[in-house]
Amino acid sequence: MIYLDDFSKQELEYEMNALGEKPFRGRQLYKWMYSKGVFDFHEMTDLSRQLRQKLEEQYGFRNIGVIEKKQSKKDGSTKLLLELEDKNRIETVILKDGERLTGCVSTQVGCRMGCSFCSTAKIGLIRNLKIGEIVRQIIIMNKILSEKDEKLSNIVFMGMGEPLDNLENLNEAIRIILDESGLNFSHRKVTVSTCGMTDELNKMYEELDSPVNLAVSLNFTDNEMRQKYMPVSKKYPVKSLIATLKNLPVQKRKRITIEYVMLKDINDTQKDAKYLAEMLRGMPVKINLIVYNDSDIGFDSAAEKNVLAFQKVLQDKGFSAFIRKSLGSDIEGACGQLYARYNKKTYK
Ligand code: SF4
Repeated sequence: MIYLDDFSKQELEYEMNALGEKPFRGRQLYKWMYSKGVFDFHEMTDLSRQLRQKLEEQYGFRNIGVIEKKQSKKDGSTKLLLELEDKNRIETVILKDGERLTGCVSTQVGCRMGCSFCSTAKIGLIRNLKIGEIVRQIIIMNKILSEKDEKLSNIVFMGMGEPLDNLENLNEAIRIILDESGLNFSHRKVTVSTCGMTDELNKMYEELDSPVNLAVSLNFTDNEMRQKYMPVSKKYPVKSLIATLKNLPVQKRKRITIEYVMLKDINDTQKDAKYLAEMLRGMPVKINLIVYNDSDIGFDSAAEKNVLAFQKVLQDKGFSAFIRKSLGSDIEGACGQLYARYNKKTYK
C-alpha cells in the first residue's frame, strides 16, 4: 500500500503524473486531506468515479485512531492517546490557557536524546513520524474542538520526540501547516522546541521559507553539567548552541524562547540564574522557567521560593522571565510527562 499522506504537495503532483493523471489532481488530493481533513476517497467528490476507484486500488491513508481522551479537571487541557497504523502509540495534547488553545504535537514515537529528567527518553526512539502523521494530530485535535465551535490557535512541537531529529518530515509538515491550501496557520503561531541540535537548527532555517518561532530547552549553562543530564551537549556544546542562536535569521523578527526546567538541588540556585543571565546577555530572548512536574524518575520540582528568586535575578538583569504554568499536569500531559504511563503499559 502506498500512503498518500507520506507525500509532500509536490510529490503528490509527481505521483498523479506517474499515474497518467494531470498534476493538479495531486493538488486536489492535498486540499482534501489538509484543508478539509478528508482521508476517504469516496468523499472526494470533485474526482471522477474512475479515478477514485483507481486510487483506492493502489493507495490509501495511514490509519490513526483516538484510543483515549483525558481532560484535566484543573485547567481543561486534553490529552489524546493515538494509535498509528503500525500499532505504535503517541500522545498529543490540547493545552488550554484561557482563550488560547495550543496543540502540542509529537514528531517521533519515543526519543533518542536521552534527557534524564524526561519520561519520553526512557523508551528510546522507536521511529520517526511520517509527514501526515505529524499533521494529522492537528487535524484530529481540531475535529474534537470543532464540537464546541473551537479550534487551535497555536501549534508547538513539544510533544514526544526531538523535532529536529526528524527534520525532513518536520519541515514538510510545517510547510503544510503554513500553506494557505493546507492548514493555513500563521508562522507566528507555530513554535519548534529543540534540545539544541545546532546543525539541524541551521538547516531548518535554511530550508523553510517562513521562519517559525523557536524554543530551546537549555536548562543548564555549564556544559559538563548539561552533558550529564542532556547527552545532546556532548555533540553540541552549550557555547556552540548559543553562538548558533545568535546567528539565526529568526532573531530579526522574533525573540527566541529559552526554556529552563527548574530541578530541585540541581539547577535552581541564584548563582545558576546569574550564569544564565551572563550567557544570554544582549540576546533578544524571553525565558520560561518551567516548574518541573514531580515524577517517579528521580527528579523533583524546585521549591517555589527558589523559582521566584531565580526569576528575580533574571528580571533585575533586564530579562523577560516568566514562570510557566504547568498545564495538564494532572493528566500526565505536562512537560516531561508524555508517554510515561503508556510506556509502562505497552513496552515493559
Ligand atoms: S526532553 Fe525532549 S529531547 Fe529530551 S528526551 Fe525528552 S522528548 Fe527527547
